[in-house]
Amino acid sequence: MKKIRVLQIPPSATIAINSIALDKIRAGETIYNLSAGEPMVLAPKAATHAFVNAFKDGKTHYPSVAGIGELRDAAALWMNRRYGSKIKKENTLVVSGGKFGLFILLQTLIRPGDEVLIPTPYWVSYPGLVRLFRGLPKAINTTEESGWKIKPEDLKKNCTKKSKILILNNAGNPTGALYTQAEIKKIFAMATRLGLYVISDEVYSGLVYGNKPFASCIGPGKFPDNLAIVESCSKSFAMTGFRLGFVFANPEIIKTLSSLASQSTSGATTMCQYAALPVLKNAGNITKKINAEMKRRRNVFVGELNKTFNANIPLPDAGLYVFAPIKALEWEGNNSQEFCRMAIEKGGVATVPGSAFGKEGYVRFSFGERSEILIKGIHALAKFISKHK
Ligand code: PMP
Repeated sequence: MKKIRVLQIPPSATIAINSIALDKIRAGETIYNLSAGEPMVLAPKAATHAFVNAFKDGKTHYPSVAGIGELRDAAALWMNRRYGSKIKKENTLVVSGGKFGLFILLQTLIRPGDEVLIPTPYWVSYPGLVRLFRGLPKAINTTEESGWKIKPEDLKKNCTKKSKILILNNAGNPTGALYTQAEIKKIFAMATRLGLYVISDEVYSGLVYGNKPFASCIGPGKFPDNLAIVESCSKSFAMTGFRLGFVFANPEIIKTLSSLASQSTSGATTMCQYAALPVLKNAGNITKKINAEMKRRRNVFVGELNKTFNANIPLPDAGLYVFAPIKALEWEGNNSQEFCRMAIEKGGVATVPGSAFGKEGYVRFSFGERSEILIKGIHALAKFISKHK
């Protein structure tokens, strides 16, 4: 056999930690899993009923590659109802999870050597995906003091001739950073002025906890040529296992993405698409319930964390995570990987190191679990830390 050069790509850090946690649980150890990025509640009844009905009705064949027509319409309407936009079926692609949407978008848009601007801390998969398609991830650093947000000037400073794409993650994983409508408008205007294509990852749009509505990159005007929005059923509807997401973009881009899907997945699972239909039609009420539960868990988690460690960690505005400085947890040292390795090995608590998100000295906790597990996890962490002082 000729020598085959096997592609080297690291696994997603969050999924790797989650797998260690699951292995340990299988081996009978008690593990408090504060690493998984999902709302740990049952999927909406409407989804499970529609799934079973689709199955029974024999809707078990290949879907249309771009998604079943009713779902594309329902997804466009879901966006238009929230943002007053004019998204049509032609702007809408159903994909096997938001992550696959990002995958084919980056595959479509990156040419070798292109720079992709990524506000940092970033979601773990962005730099890996950019490198996979021979692009160059370029971090734009943000600070806790600035609310982990970029400003238009930061874009201008970091944009070079080679920069082609900006990945904006609003609301942010791991920080919970949430941009206002005015901020989004200015950033998008600057990106457009700099000739950048913007991928707006809005998968946490339903998990926003203040009084203000979520600010999407899409508005009432024509769909901009330099914009793609990635959405998902995973977080807003607690449907992670259904692997269902959406890309909204210019029809030309949607056609290319569709071709890529036709050469890879052949479309998202048919029964899952039918499952999402009644959910999207009643999206407001379903998300409201999940949002209220996640808000309650956030409050419990941050309250208990601050009480236990005598800390002052703020409530994140959105998402499923608390991104905390390790030093606030009375831990000596700055190495987040070392901290998380010890926390799972010695304390039985699964967390994700800040280094996986491009920010050393921090640790990411997920508050998607039941309150009881969150509290026990914090206590197990405190016990392990006090022993290792
Ligand atoms: N974007 C971000 C920021 C995420 O956190 C996730 C999931 N953790 C995704 C995209 C992908 O979500 P899914 O593939 O489940 O739709």
